[in-house]
Amino acid sequence: MTAPHRPPAIARRAFLQSAAAAALSAPLLARAAPETKKARIAITLDLEMSREYPRRGMTEWDYEKGNLDDATKKYAAQAAQVAKERGGKIHFFCVGRVLEQPSADWLKQLADDGHPIGNHTYDHVNVLAQKPEDIQFRFRRAPWLIAGKSVEQVIRENIRLTSAALKERTGIVANGFRTPGGFAEGLSGREDIQKLLLDLGFTWVSSKYPRHETGKPKQEPPAAVYADIVRAQKEAQPFVYPTGLVEIPMSPISDVGAFRTNYWKLDWFLRAIGDAVRWAIDNGAVFDFLAHPSCLVVEDPEFQTIKLICQLVKEAGDKAELVSLDKIAAGAKPT
Ligand SMILES: [Zn+2]
Repeated sequence: MTAPHRPPAIARRAFLQSAAAAALSAPLLARAAPETKKARIAITLDLEMSREYPRRGMTEWDYEKGNLDDATKKYAAQAAQVAKERGGKIHFFCVGRVLEQPSADWLKQLADDGHPIGNHTYDHVNVLAQKPEDIQFRFRRAPWLIAGKSVEQVIRENIRLTSAALKERTGIVANGFRTPGGFAEGLSGREDIQKLLLDLGFTWVSSKYPRHETGKPKQEPPAAVYADIVRAQKEAQPFVYPTGLVEIPMSPISDVGAFRTNYWKLDWFLRAIGDAVRWAIDNGAVFDFLAHPSCLVVEDPEFQTIKLICQLVKEAGDKAELVSLDKIAAGAKPT
């Protein structure tokens, strides 16, 4: 996660005003809306190497996020198979530099099997960076790579190149955009970045990761932490920015937040994800599971989390469905 971003006061005021307007018109909307709302559950995996994996102390990945190791690629492929056997798809987000590797066949195979592949920037850049040194570790070590360019130019090029590389190397058309790192306020207050994404052809983004409690590292979370993660699901529902860009937030808790930052055990993670998915099903809401094969291959080698999500959706019958993020985006309406 990168530093949370706070919108300026004026954006907050505008939000409060629109929230008040929404509250006034709520009874009308409630009457017009259909009675049963199906929960939409997405499983998303970001294809990049994660620092501290596969072993603590491995941080060199910060400089080569796209140099995926074989175990990570194999986990991604098997996870896709696990989801497919259970009637679902995985929405992947790919760091562009992975397309410099000797083979991209594994990625092409994922796409051929019907799993959407989105854009996660070329070098895992921070799209909210204001200074060159905040863009990405690689450019801090090798600043000549971006010399003479503005921060905006570097970010734009890093996103554009990823879509171009996907297309040229594999024929894949990027399906959506996910920001590296999650932002508590999403892209609120950053119309420049919203417009940049729209300009690059994206209609939706997954950038918001709401705040929530995590408890103390290495200790089993108390009930209040699980409850707070469920509470945060309400803050992780899709919405439309004033620019028209659709936001599909990531639903807590992420694998790296649980395992890397807080040293959770798999059972604790399964409980938190299970509680959150059940909340989404009970409320006809969206759940956007966020994880990384480079982390899960170590922490959840038997795909228990993905199996649990698929099982909960199956048990929910017609109350829930497994979907990709573009399908969720297509159903998002301005509020
Ligand atoms: Zn990432």
